Parts: sequence; C-alpha cells; structure tokens
Amino acid sequence: MNLNIPPALRADYDAALIMHGHRCPAMPLGLRLGHLARRLLGVDKALDIQLLARLEIDRFHFATCLADGVQVATGCTTGKGNLELLGWGKLGLTLLDRRGHRAVRVAPRGAVILGAKDEGPLARYQFTGTPASEVPPDIMAQMIQMIFDLPDEQLFYAGGIEEGVAAPVRGCGLGQCGDFKGILCDRCGDVVVERYARLRGEQRLCIACAGYDRS
Ligand SMILES: [Zn+2]
Ligand SMILES: [Zn+2]
Repeated sequence: MNLNIPPALRADYDAALIMHGHRCPAMPLGLRLGHLARRLLGVDKALDIQLLARLEIDRFHFATCLADGVQVATGCTTGKGNLELLGWGKLGLTLLDRRGHRAVRVAPRGAVILGAKDEGPLARYQFTGTPASEVPPDIMAQMIQMIFDLPDEQLFYAGGIEEGVAAPVRGCGLGQCGDFKGILCDRCGDVVVERYARLRGEQRLCIACAGYDRS
C-alpha cells in the first residue's frame, strides 16, 4: 500500500523514518503535531535553540514514538537540548518561541487516539507485544494513512497563543554560552565537563570513576 503523504510533510517523513527506524502511526502523529504547533506560532524550524519543545510523554508507554516526529518537525532535538520530556504520560506538546516569547500547546484528541489504539487493526499486534517492524506492512500503512488523512481539527486541539512567555535558555546560542569547560578524568583520562567531575582528595574524577552510587 503506497502512502499518500501531504507534500509539505514528505521530506520530513522520509528524514524521520531514517532516524526512527520502523514504520508506525505515532511518529507521523508527532510530525503533524510539531508542524501544527510551528504553523500556529508562525515560526521556522529551530536551526539552533530558537524554539523549545516540551513534550508530555514519559518513556515505555504507547505513542512515545511521536517524539521523533516532533524532533524532525520542530528542530527541537535531544542533541541540541531544546527538547524536554515532562514525563506526564500524556501526548501534548507545548512549543515555545524564545525570541517572540510566545507559546502554544497542541495535543491529539484523546478519543481519536484511544479509538485508533484500542479498536484499530493494529490493536491485536500491540497488545501481544509485536514489534512495530514485524506488523504486516498493510496494517501499519492503514494506520499511518489514517494519521495523515485526518484534518487538523479532527486530530488535534490547540490552546490559544500565550504571549509574554519566559522561555528559559539553556545550552549555547542566543547570546548565552553553555558549559564549555572540560577536564580530563585523573583516572580514566576521558574528557568530562568540569561541572560533572567529582573531587576525590587531589583527584578530579568522572562520575563513573568516582563511583556514582557512593558519591
Ligand atoms: Zn515508532
Ligand atoms: Zn574516569
């Protein structure tokens, strides 16, 4: 089954698929979530840390794959430090524009997600622990196509634009310098950000060499 992907999302879908690995409906859900949030704020992807994404997911539960779609759609990534996981077990995304001090929260409509998850053709595979990569491709394609086909207003709801939002700047960029001081661990020789080194007598050690549990 060939997917009919909206042209505006095609390149991001292909890129996200390379990063994500398997085909699943939650990654495209994240793509659409991130694109919608950006469109509502009227901002481009974050080349640096212009945007901050706060995702309400935790780990090890359904739909966490959406984080990879959000990363590609917004440019808020683990590597740049402008993606935060709030650990609430929810699927909402708040996107903050640090320069404009504006933010918007968007979230998938719960009934749509639960209906697709519990009653869709994928349910019997998910509930038996079948890895996404081993689900029959036509079943997966059907779910992915549904995510791409639903109009924004059926799939998501969005809060209003919040103005005057203070978006903390961490990391490097936007006139702020992150943690650039590194040292070598006196025991293993690995480079370690100085702030993370532990003092053991005269020695400065990385956390692993200092014995994390005992420090
Ligand atoms: Zn996935
Ligand atoms: Zn060490």
